[in-house]
Amino acid sequence: MRLQGKAALITGGGRGIGWAIAQAFGAQGAQVGIMELQGDNFAQLRDEARARGFELITLQGDVTKKEQIEKAVADLVAAFGKIDILVNNAGIVISRPFLEKTAQEWMKTLEVNLVGPFLCCQVAAPYMLKQKYGKIVNISSIRGFDHCGREGVMDYCASKGAIINFTKTLAKELAPHINVNSVAPGHTNTTMVQGLPEEVRRNMIEGSYLKRLAEPEDIAQAVLFMSSDEAKFITGQVLLVDGGFHLKRN
Ligand code: NAD
Repeated sequence: MRLQGKAALITGGGRGIGWAIAQAFGAQGAQVGIMELQGDNFAQLRDEARARGFELITLQGDVTKKEQIEKAVADLVAAFGKIDILVNNAGIVISRPFLEKTAQEWMKTLEVNLVGPFLCCQVAAPYMLKQKYGKIVNISSIRGFDHCGREGVMDYCASKGAIINFTKTLAKELAPHINVNSVAPGHTNTTMVQGLPEEVRRNMIEGSYLKRLAEPEDIAQAVLFMSSDEAKFITGQVLLVDGGFHLKRN
């Protein structure tokens, strides 16, 4: 029980990687809150959590709206008494070639993927600073890492590169009682990748030395480590979970 007694908030936790993180945390004894744009599947997720034996609260909110984050965090603290872990997982990708990409698409991507985590950290950090304990994990991407940008999603790549820099800067600013780290997933088997053309997905698998897409659980286990006290001397770090995809450029 690596997160026994810990209270965690996961943004975009209603499906994909976020829901896998929620389940991994719950299995290790955490009380879990997920914040999602839509509440359509909330009852089903609560049933699933109950069946798996962990406590889940479902919170509706948009990571780009500070007052909605404040309400979600206040509701989580009212339910669990504190917030120990924040995982900034909510993210979007809008694919369009560079010459057709609009400024609105850039702004939307940066708003969700970069301003969202900033706002969530700003709301959660005061609680963590007061209790002198906190773990923040920002979900970046292989596409924000070194030379791994991707055509058509340059705004996404820019947001994911920036979040790595944000992570390192915030790690300095919130030290010494709060650890701020990032997990950078490689191509992962969620709706974000499932909708891509077959050939693109084949290239993603071929490009990985472990010859498959990541499953959401692969990413969740890395986030679990970074959120646990096993990683208590790690801060400002990025953990790349990509099956060796980044090695290809060599
Ligand atoms: P997903 O689309 O399945 O899940 C994203 C979740 O975020 C959804 O539940 C969505 O409702 C939620 N969300 C979107 N905008 C939101 C907002 N404004 N407020 C609150 N919630 C919002 O995608 P996923 O693959 O599970 O991605 C999760 C994270 O992992 C994202 O940050 C993504 O960029 C990152 N990532 C994914 C991959 C991949 O290959 N799937 C690779 C690298 C990084």
